[in-house]
Amino acid sequence: MVRETAYYDLLGVSPRASNDEIKRAFRRLALKFHPDKNPNAGEKFKQISKAYEVLSDPGKRELYDRGGESTVHGEGLHQGGGCSPSMDIFDFFFGTRSRSRSRGERKGKTVTHCLPVSLEDLYNGATRKLSIQKNIICPKCKGSGARQASEVRCRRCQGTGVEVRVLGRITGLVHSVQTTCSECNGQGECIRPRDRCRNCEGRKVVREKKILRAHIDKGMKNKQKVVFQGEGDQAPGLQPGDIIIVLEQKEHMVFQRKDDDLVMNMEITLADALCGCRQKVQMLDGRTILVTSQPGNVIRPGDTKRIPKEGMPKYRDPFEKGDLIIQFQVKFPEPGWMPTDRLQELQGLFPSQSKPDLPDITEDVNLTDYNPSEDHRREAYEEDDHDSYRPMQCQTS
Ligand SMILES: [Zn+2]
Ligand SMILES: [Zn+2]
Repeated sequence: MVRETAYYDLLGVSPRASNDEIKRAFRRLALKFHPDKNPNAGEKFKQISKAYEVLSDPGKRELYDRGGESTVHGEGLHQGGGCSPSMDIFDFFFGTRSRSRSRGERKGKTVTHCLPVSLEDLYNGATRKLSIQKNIICPKCKGSGARQASEVRCRRCQGTGVEVRVLGRITGLVHSVQTTCSECNGQGECIRPRDRCRNCEGRKVVREKKILRAHIDKGMKNKQKVVFQGEGDQAPGLQPGDIIIVLEQKEHMVFQRKDDDLVMNMEITLADALCGCRQKVQMLDGRTILVTSQPGNVIRPGDTKRIPKEGMPKYRDPFEKGDLIIQFQVKFPEPGWMPTDRLQELQGLFPSQSKPDLPDITEDVNLTDYNPSEDHRREAYEEDDHDSYRPMQCQTS
């Protein structure tokens, strides 16, 4: 359920709007209220920008939907890290992200993990703790790799990354070439072993264990993604990438999911199919429901029936539910289940059938079991027949 809708209202979209709808709504409003066009609407522009910043980002949108504005701007923003809101708006207007990249804000790679979840988890919602190992900037040297920042600069090239080698002097002129510094490989940084940061041993980053909490919302779907922005590996000069958790629904013993509906098979006896049935079904939230068919209603093999609002909760609107669809199988009794002399009695209970007229019948035949492998021989014979007919077709063409 969406608790707070102020941001959606600002953009004039429904809480169930798609990313594209949100983007379009923002673009329309931004053009209308942009300070360049509308100098008196500065505050309004700020508000819609803020709303867009949150709703355009799946991770932040989720946080907002769960706990409103305070959640996003408390825990949320620091989790998001990286780009400032103004930067996002800027990029949006000029349609380019490479701008910020070329300024040295490269982004680290996104890491994707699968998280197996049960259908019960997707029905009831759940929180999963995920333990991850990641590189973080060494807190001791703040990513310089050296014990003191001044000890980072390469002594050979004075931090320029370039070496000038004098080849010789001919008639008073100095012949020299510029090459990449061999000490630091052109990086301009070189830390002597004794100057290295003890904490990271000069690597600038250290491994850290972190617990992430993946919130599985009611009604989430198989393959749906939970995004942890900026939780990827950190490295100096790099905007950390994201960690994406992809939900993978495990098969359920009873129910298959079809969008927001649940589908199940139910086997009932022939007697129940004819006279009415009462069957217990254990639901995904632990409730037991009694599925009852009205006496006198006949359930045929393969019949499909529907129980409204007993399916999956809808994502972001969990009080709304899909349906439970039941596909019936009817179990017939075994041969010889009733003494033959009593069968007449039973037959008499059923609606009367038209009896065949005896004078019309020339032969009385019996049913036997059908065996497909015997039938195969017959097919082969028919094929031969067909082949012998073919040469005639060839002659005509
Ligand atoms: Zn150097
Ligand atoms: Zn360090």
